[in-house]
Amino acid sequence: MKDVIVIGAGMAGLICAQQLKQAGLDVTVVEKSAGVGGRMATRRLQGTWVDHGAQLISVKSDGFGRFIRKLQEKRIVQEWTRDVYQLSAAGLLPPKDDNRHTRYCCPMGMTAIAKYLAHELTIVNNTRIIGVNHNDSTWQLVTDRQEILETKAIVSTIPAPQFLPLFEEVLAPAPSFLQAVQSVKFVPSVTIMAGYNANNAVPVEWQAIKCVNDPILDWISYDSSKHPDKSSQPVFVLQSTAEFAKQSMEEPDLEIAGKPLLHQAGKLLAKWLATPEWWQVHRWRYALAEESLGVSCLSTAIPLALVCAGDWCAGKNIEAAYHSGLAAAESAIDLIKN
Ligand SMILES: Cc1cc2nc3c(=O)[nH]c(=O)nc-3n(C[C@H](O)[C@H](O)[C@H](O)COP(=O)(O)OP(=O)(O)OC[C@H]3O[C@@H](n4cnc5c(N)ncnc54)[C@H](O)[C@@H]3O)c2cc1C
Repeated sequence: MKDVIVIGAGMAGLICAQQLKQAGLDVTVVEKSAGVGGRMATRRLQGTWVDHGAQLISVKSDGFGRFIRKLQEKRIVQEWTRDVYQLSAAGLLPPKDDNRHTRYCCPMGMTAIAKYLAHELTIVNNTRIIGVNHNDSTWQLVTDRQEILETKAIVSTIPAPQFLPLFEEVLAPAPSFLQAVQSVKFVPSVTIMAGYNANNAVPVEWQAIKCVNDPILDWISYDSSKHPDKSSQPVFVLQSTAEFAKQSMEEPDLEIAGKPLLHQAGKLLAKWLATPEWWQVHRWRYALAEESLGVSCLSTAIPLALVCAGDWCAGKNIEAAYHSGLAAAESAIDLIKN
């Protein structure tokens, strides 16, 4: 039997598992995907890296700043830009002075951070938790291969709407914990990754663009500017608004679901952005919490030791997930000791 099973190998789960391991606990991370990183996601396309989840890293706290500096020293993270331009009906505007601060990226894709954290952890990939039971002293997690994993404590770092169907029944004796998770709503997002003819010139202002009040597009970035092989072909990432994603989420044809984003980029910035040489679509059903809970993590000893963590507890970004993962490790250690 494990001391702790962490569900999810995103930022929160990995940083939590690392802390638990350092505290001498026997910890395993269970992840449904083949890789690690969760929404810090990178695809290998046409010989390059394309980030189709989180685009950049901002640093607010000293603790996260130290973590990012360590990753910089290891060349996993580098400075990307200080300028996120704003695109609105008024055109493309530079950021105001108070919004000019360093945004970081990963030259080999956002998943590089997760791969670094995963090093030396026990991670079981391609394994989805589909059910949860318990007796007086032990949790039993049921996997999609019908295996039973036994553990003294669970740290779940999956989005709140994915947590609920698994844990709702066993958490009946902990109603306030359950209500807190139930109050978190997530919104979806559609992402396009698109490669263009190398003859197209990309202005420096297009590196990172936040769209303001656009019904379809929320974000446009020149993704290949993050990666060392940027000269081969311009690759862009377009991300939709939540409103657009809600309508396109159930569209069975991915091309139809994604095409309006390309058209809109062509309309707003330059015609050639509507006609890439290749493109792919990814739909995030649970992209971001509408509002986070404003707590570092949630924990309960009833019915047994359980901690919920992730960006949706503490904020809506990688830094929030990092802090939530650290807090979850502390809570899990407390629960196991008491
Ligand atoms: C399109 C998009 C753009 C974003 N842009 C930015 C940005 O520019 N900057 C920024 O800081 N943040 C950004 N974010 C948010 C950022 O990606 C997240 O805040 C952060 O990655 C969340 O980490 P996490 O560990 O909390 O959750 P996740 O990364 O979601 O990790 C949860 C993990 O649990 C796994 N899982 C789920 N269910 C199960 C199950 N039943 N069994 C086993 N495993 C399971 C998932 O596969 C996943 O790996 C963006 C997110 C999206 C979707």
